[in-house]
Amino acid sequence: MTPTAPALEFSTTLTSNPVAPERRSEILANPGFGTNFTDHMVTATWTPDGWRDAGLRPYAPLALDPATAVFHYAQAIFEGLKAYRHADGSIWTFRPEANGERMQRSAHRMALPPLPAGSFVEAVDLLVRADADWVPSGGETSLYLRPFMFASEVFLGVRPAKQVTFCVIASPAGAYFSSGVKPVDIWLSSEYTRAAPGGTGAAKCAGNYAASLIAQQEAIENGCDQVCFLDAVEGKWVEELGGMNLYFVHANGTIVTPELTGTILEGITRDSIHALAADRGYKVDERRFSIDEWREGVASGDITEVFACGTAAVVTPLGRLAWQGGELSMGTEPGPVTSELRSALLDVQYGRADDPHGWMHRVV
Ligand SMILES: *Cc1c(COP(=O)(O)O)cnc(C)c1O
Repeated sequence: MTPTAPALEFSTTLTSNPVAPERRSEILANPGFGTNFTDHMVTATWTPDGWRDAGLRPYAPLALDPATAVFHYAQAIFEGLKAYRHADGSIWTFRPEANGERMQRSAHRMALPPLPAGSFVEAVDLLVRADADWVPSGGETSLYLRPFMFASEVFLGVRPAKQVTFCVIASPAGAYFSSGVKPVDIWLSSEYTRAAPGGTGAAKCAGNYAASLIAQQEAIENGCDQVCFLDAVEGKWVEELGGMNLYFVHANGTIVTPELTGTILEGITRDSIHALAADRGYKVDERRFSIDEWREGVASGDITEVFACGTAAVVTPLGRLAWQGGELSMGTEPGPVTSELRSALLDVQYGRADDPHGWMHRVV
């Protein structure tokens, strides 16, 4: 489906001004999320002649003209994946080619140029190798990698940009749940939707996030942590959270996740959980799942656990679903299936378990 473009050739320019080791240790001891960045980044530029100037270089601000297209028309996509340090010191990423392929699909939808998936993986590898000292160790820490692509042409006309920038940055990340996994509360948005048929819901584009923020704000105002979106046509089918996919565990051992209809983002965690659950003998159903089925299933006891999944928070149990005029409790502690699948995934990612699906990619 994707035109084959020649692989990029990356140059390397190391920084002469890295963060001091003492300061880096301080950051790694308490990394938080998304506020500290490593010493380098990868950038590349596309024009209709192809990709050029691909390379690793010192992390630095990008100087952009106010008329740069992305500021006006949001032609921008991104990816998110992590590098994990194993007990023996080696460093690995998880299914990076799947992120590269998804970025190609997102690029296609947003009329951005295809970046060869192999070059995507190479760019991420280059950055992780250069900044290997920034990969934390211990607990559920990681180096969060953020590849992104945007229209960098200086032009206010409305058409796909003829200059595009690809960039990869990295940020050390602490454990998402620093004091034990705690169920999160979810607000069911009735006023806002995330994605419509024919729209951009399946693309990891910046605009999807911009459009979800007001609903997220409403969730916080209502004492919740995250939003759940329903389908835009009937307002009946459960889709996903703003940045995580959903799973419903049933008492009979079946696990249901909303099927990919074009309005749901194909999470790589979602896909991996499907495989890990099937490995463990659960029956996994991908099908449409209604909000009534959720409410009735929890009330009757048919649904025993609900969890969300995505790269940043891995697997997160849902505690409460609230909406205008009601709420539903799904438990105050993570359920056994949620915990089992969460550990199974983390054990592969941190090298504590075999990797029968060949998901791990060694970088260092
Ligand atoms: C990124 C994302 C996810 C999770 O995808 P992973 O590949 O598992 O990290 C789920 N939903 C949305 C809307 C996303 O943008």
